[in-house]
Amino acid sequence: MVLKLFPKPILIASERTRSRRGTVVMRRVHVLPCGHELDDKCVLTLLKGCGTKIKLPYYAYLIEDPECTILVDTGLSIRWKELHPKVIQELFPTHMEEQEHLDRLLESMGFSRSDVDYVINTHLHYDHCGNNEMFPQATFLVSESELAHAFAPGWWEASSYLRSVFDIPGLKYELVKEGFEIGRGVGIISTPGHSEGHQSVVVELDNTGTLVIAGDAISTRENLEDPILPGFYVDARQYAHSMDRLKGIIELHEGVLLPSHSREYLTKDGWKEFTDGVQSFT
Ligand SMILES: [Zn+2]
Repeated sequence: MVLKLFPKPILIASERTRSRRGTVVMRRVHVLPCGHELDDKCVLTLLKGCGTKIKLPYYAYLIEDPECTILVDTGLSIRWKELHPKVIQELFPTHMEEQEHLDRLLESMGFSRSDVDYVINTHLHYDHCGNNEMFPQATFLVSESELAHAFAPGWWEASSYLRSVFDIPGLKYELVKEGFEIGRGVGIISTPGHSEGHQSVVVELDNTGTLVIAGDAISTRENLEDPILPGFYVDARQYAHSMDRLKGIIELHEGVLLPSHSREYLTKDGWKEFTDGVQSFT
């Protein structure tokens, strides 16, 4: 694994990328539904709703750009039955149709795995990096503290990191931090609290304006509105600060906010629900 810090934001797409995706003229963000698990509600809302079962959806996000192709998170592993310990499978029963497999979703949109140039992992909990192994040619962008904690977690966070899904021989993890940009208008901001090195992604779009892919910095509408901590976090104050910061960005820019485990997303006209299948923003 190669570890280095990009000296300066702004990546220039390769010629390979330009010719391959040469027809793309407008940046788009596609929300890819990658299955769900059945959970006790208090997994998402601390000590609230215990005993009530909810569907917790997983997503990956494809950023189609004239310069390059970016994935934000890779969802839960399509090989979860092989890779997840039995205790996790029993605690969080997973449901994933074949058409919800990330590679199938990409194929259905005309992409192959090798089209993906960059993968931004918001964090390395197993339900956000489960299919990293699908993209051996991509460059993975993570924060230094997230990678450090994934490899050497404290006991309180260890069950969320599965080395079998992120520590793949040959994958190129590059360390990034607040302010890192891919081209102009796809930026990373640091949003710790849910995990040590959590990061969110801010995308500028022609029609939508500012779109925030929150990751687990905001999992559901209820976390933001109540407000309430999620069932899992490493630092409550940092979590609250990160959530307030994302809320501020959305309010300032009248943008769109995509929470990580919710079918609802926030727009300047209020909360809306994803339609079935892939939903796209331009
Ligand atoms: Zn998480």
